Amino acid sequence: MTRLHNFCAGPAAMPTAVLERAREELLDYQGRGLSVMEMSHRSPTFEAIAAKAEQDLRELLAIPDNYRVLFMQGGATMQFACVPLNLLGNGGTPNYLDTGIWSTKAIKEAQHLATVDSPLANAHIAGSTRDSGYVHVPRPDEVSLSDDAAYLHYCHNETIGGLAYDYVPEVRVPEVRVPEADVPLVCDMSSSILSTPLDVSRYGVIYAGAQKNIGPAGITVVIVRDDLLDRAMPQTPSLLGWKVYADNDSMINTPPTYAWYLAGLVFEWLKHDIGGLAEMEAINRRKCEALYAAIDSSDFYANPIEPANRSIMNVPFTLADESLNATFLDEAESAGLLNLKGHRSVGGMRASLYNAVSEADVQALITFMQDFERRRG
Ligand SMILES: *Cc1c(COP(=O)(O)O)cnc(C)c1O
Repeated sequence: MTRLHNFCAGPAAMPTAVLERAREELLDYQGRGLSVMEMSHRSPTFEAIAAKAEQDLRELLAIPDNYRVLFMQGGATMQFACVPLNLLGNGGTPNYLDTGIWSTKAIKEAQHLATVDSPLANAHIAGSTRDSGYVHVPRPDEVSLSDDAAYLHYCHNETIGGLAYDYVPEVRVPEVRVPEADVPLVCDMSSSILSTPLDVSRYGVIYAGAQKNIGPAGITVVIVRDDLLDRAMPQTPSLLGWKVYADNDSMINTPPTYAWYLAGLVFEWLKHDIGGLAEMEAINRRKCEALYAAIDSSDFYANPIEPANRSIMNVPFTLADESLNATFLDEAESAGLLNLKGHRSVGGMRASLYNAVSEADVQALITFMQDFERRRG
């Protein structure tokens, strides 16, 4: 059996040790005589799996006690709707930072709700770097909230653009019409959660689809400060309401049990095999720094993002001669380097270096890129 080098943007590489453990337990979970995917989600065995996954995630991220951890479905995209539905019940204007494709999708979803319900959902763009082609994030002094801000939403790591924040945006409103504490910071961390340690207490809500750094597709983690659970718009469908999940241990209906179990195995892997998020960050920094160094030291490859805002997880790059793109991808695949094609909306290449991508995988990519340049450059 050969496992190739997988740079997919999502669903992404899983740690081999996690897949091996899942294989061992696939037919008979710890002597129970059945698979986790065949168990009732109300069984004590599954309840223990679910509770342990939450506990391990809490430890990894040092999540304070006044935050609830929800396991939902629908991906990050469903949270684009959940955020306004759950936070606009008391009125106010949703505020958004725009740094690329994913933050734009979140903004569109909030604007869409305006036609369903109220003009409150006319999102205020508190900062955007669209005009400069999204090669950096708004500087802190370029972020300007509306004075009735209900929340400030941003995307920490733009998976397609390869652009990430190097600071946590402020949620201070200049005219103190709304107390600072009332403007929760809401963050889409789908492609960066668990890649570094995180100060959860700076946030009101953090959410992430699983299929980048958490586990397989099909489950979505939402971390929400408990005082924000009573702000939902009244028409929020119950399956989109965070409070319903908080009140029912995320089992309002049948949860994606097997994805939940696999996410738990990934959390265990991060704790025990990697040694926690500080160690994970050190590995991730070595990975991306090696790849950016290889790109920057060549005239054949280029990455447009300003160094301070380069993503540690997603590294897009272009070839000086775009007519070689297809050849590059073909030869990469023959060398066992998979899923390097850039997103269809931007073209070029993209290497996603999520937690399960090893330093050896990245080294194999760099060696291939240097060899390709020597032969074709
Ligand atoms: C992948 C991704 C999404 C979309 O996730 P789905 O689970 O497909 O809805 C949203 N935001 C970011 C930053 C992503 O990387």
